[in-house]
Amino acid sequence: MLQPFRVLIPEEIIGASTELARLGEKAVVYAGGAELALLLRYGMIRADYLVNIKRIRGMNEITWDGETIQIGAAMTHHRVETDPLIRRHMPLFAYAEGKIANIRVRNQGTLGGNLCFNDPHSDPGTALLLYDTSVSLANKTNWRQLPLCEFLTGMYSTALMAGEILASVAIKPLPLDWGTAYLRVHRLQRPTLNVAVATKLKDGILEKVRMAVGCVGPKPQRLLEIEDKIVGLKIEDANKIIMESTRYFVNLLEPVDDVLGSTDYKMYMTRILLSRALSQASAAKEEV
Ligand SMILES: Cc1cc2nc3c(=O)[nH]c(=O)nc-3n(C[C@H](O)[C@H](O)[C@H](O)COP(=O)(O)OP(=O)(O)OC[C@H]3O[C@@H](n4cnc5c(N)ncnc54)[C@H](O)[C@@H]3O)c2cc1C
Repeated sequence: MLQPFRVLIPEEIIGASTELARLGEKAVVYAGGAELALLLRYGMIRADYLVNIKRIRGMNEITWDGETIQIGAAMTHHRVETDPLIRRHMPLFAYAEGKIANIRVRNQGTLGGNLCFNDPHSDPGTALLLYDTSVSLANKTNWRQLPLCEFLTGMYSTALMAGEILASVAIKPLPLDWGTAYLRVHRLQRPTLNVAVATKLKDGILEKVRMAVGCVGPKPQRLLEIEDKIVGLKIEDANKIIMESTRYFVNLLEPVDDVLGSTDYKMYMTRILLSRALSQASAAKEEV
């Protein structure tokens, strides 16, 4: 049963972070509530105050300055998935957002809530690692920026400090002549495993490549070492390297058995999905 709580509705980020600092452990940030409501209902956390951040100026906007797309942290998954700017400049990310659970969850949950909760079985983190993505964090006195890969520190953990709010996510789209592919397998609503791949080909050779994998271990990861190894190769040769790199994947991804899949299954599917996504990305250019 839900314990009683008060909801505060600040309109400025400074007001929200001041309340968080004043109330300390008695208060939590409340965005869509998709996770928070469950945590409160099952007594996994206790809060006397919820600081609702959905009315804060700028946290419900998507802006584009010609180089970077800035997404307010309180944007719902559905608004991200359907936004024309995101669909045009980052079709892979729009597609990955559209794969989350179902329309009810996508209408309720926010991008910021998803990244701050950092459930290992999530979609946006894997997709966003493919781009140069950073997050803006605010407390009552300071703003700071962090690359997304440093923000997502581990299973259900992030670099957020007490009283800090994730204000927005800044993403540099890939050039439109790159091809991309996002693949996931799922038994239930959440992904068991997902991969994101982007490639630029010249004369059948991989000129540029980026790859990310999620849900295997505690957090999503970019595969920088494999990317370096397969640049300059044909797709068939790159796929051979992916298939032979089990040790690298195990060391980097730190696979764990969980209700969605065993480590053996996840390691097998990681290589299969990466290989398929590499071929798919290379066969397609980003839609414009
Ligand atoms: C049935 C179900 C299926 C799901 N399936 C998927 C799936 O397939 N793929 C997937 O990726 N996700 C999935 N999710 C997760 C869903 O995307 C997240 O629940 C949602 O994005 C969390 O956002 P929220 O706004 O509801 O966060 P909330 O529940 O409001 O908050 C979550 C946590 O983050 C903190 N927080 C939220 N926003 C901020 C902020 N801006 N700054 C600081 N702290 C903040 C809160 O204090 C809380 O601790 C699923 C969830 C459910 C319930």
